[in-house]
Amino acid sequence: MSTADEIAKLTEPTRGRFGEFGGQYVAETLMPAIAQLEDAWRVARDDASYWAEVDSLLANYVGRPSLLYHARRLSAEVGADVYLKREDLNHTGAHKINNCIGQAVLARRMGKRRLIAETGAGQHGVATATVAALFGLPCEIYMGAEDVMRQALNVERMKLLGATVHPVESGTRTLKDAMNEALRDWVTNVGDTFYLIGSVAGPHPYPWMVRDLQSVIGREARRQILDQGGRLPDALVACVGGGSNAAGLFAPFIDEAKVRMFGVEAAGDGVATGRHAATLSAGRVGVLHGSKSYVLTHEDDARLGQIAHAHSISAGLDYPGVGPEHAAWKDSGRVSYVSRTDEQALAALELLARTEGILCALETAHAVAALEHVAGLVGKTGLIIVGLSGRGDKDMVTVAQRRSATT
Ligand SMILES: *Cc1c(COP(=O)(O)O)cnc(C)c1O
Repeated sequence: MSTADEIAKLTEPTRGRFGEFGGQYVAETLMPAIAQLEDAWRVARDDASYWAEVDSLLANYVGRPSLLYHARRLSAEVGADVYLKREDLNHTGAHKINNCIGQAVLARRMGKRRLIAETGAGQHGVATATVAALFGLPCEIYMGAEDVMRQALNVERMKLLGATVHPVESGTRTLKDAMNEALRDWVTNVGDTFYLIGSVAGPHPYPWMVRDLQSVIGREARRQILDQGGRLPDALVACVGGGSNAAGLFAPFIDEAKVRMFGVEAAGDGVATGRHAATLSAGRVGVLHGSKSYVLTHEDDARLGQIAHAHSISAGLDYPGVGPEHAAWKDSGRVSYVSRTDEQALAALELLARTEGILCALETAHAVAALEHVAGLVGKTGLIIVGLSGRGDKDMVTVAQRRSATT
């Protein structure tokens, strides 16, 4: 089946919404740009030549298909048959490049000459700067001033790749402020600028478009597990920050009622401490960055209802919102959302390293940390696919500091 045919089978939002979630809560001045993007995406989504270009870059530049690896020693440890979908093996070391390639090809089709993006830890900024270099497009990245200091290495990477990094001084000087600033730039420069959002967040059509572009994870995994395991999996597990790697893995299986799905959020120091990023587990319905979904808000002081600061050891899960399709999956019960603490994620990172010789990202480690729970539900002969969203090189300093603090 061609990619366009596979994509056509994935759910489309209805009037820009997944159930009651999603929508386009943006300034009037941004509506023409959003409408133009939505039209362009509709056309590209049905166009075999668009997917031929995307697929060729994914094969020859990113290194796809990524492996589906049967992790036998990890399986024995957690008590079920575990397969790892190895997005960590992609160029730039995570799943984010899948989305960036697709949006950059779309930008070029739309005749946009300039890419902008927001970034938190810098992973999406690096992936965007990478495709900008590949396409020869100027690139400007908005990054909270706090994050610029914390993530100096990624700032250097973006600069080497030719991007300009703008430190954002407003608000908490982190990801949510960077996203506000990028939206502001887009309003001012709609004519020539393409805003490349990094997860299944933001106003419609981004949550839909980014999920379709990341669905390459699940579309490949589906073919690979039928080939290697001889049947569909019993469960899928993936970490959830904004929710793009999870949505990309889940979407091609969503109509298979027997495939159970688990999204794993960051519980930080523990959900009860208030220092966490478990938006679906502990947040409430609200509007953030142009769409309605679950958000983390202040509950108990003068800032009641305002967006709260998220906390996680993994910078990539440290976002106080979550994609609207996840909100709909939570409310319908199609996907179960659980959370794991910093400490549990670290232990899982060590477990994967020792049993399989794979150093995963701290974000990814949250999914690994939920494996024992999921194995308990599917049983010894159960088949589980874990989204291994990224590699751990970027986190080694954090991991080393935590380990020396506790031993
Ligand atoms: C950014 C990132 C995430 C979180 O983003 P999602 O949109 O939730 O997928 C997870 N894992 C890695 C390795 C990342 O870089």
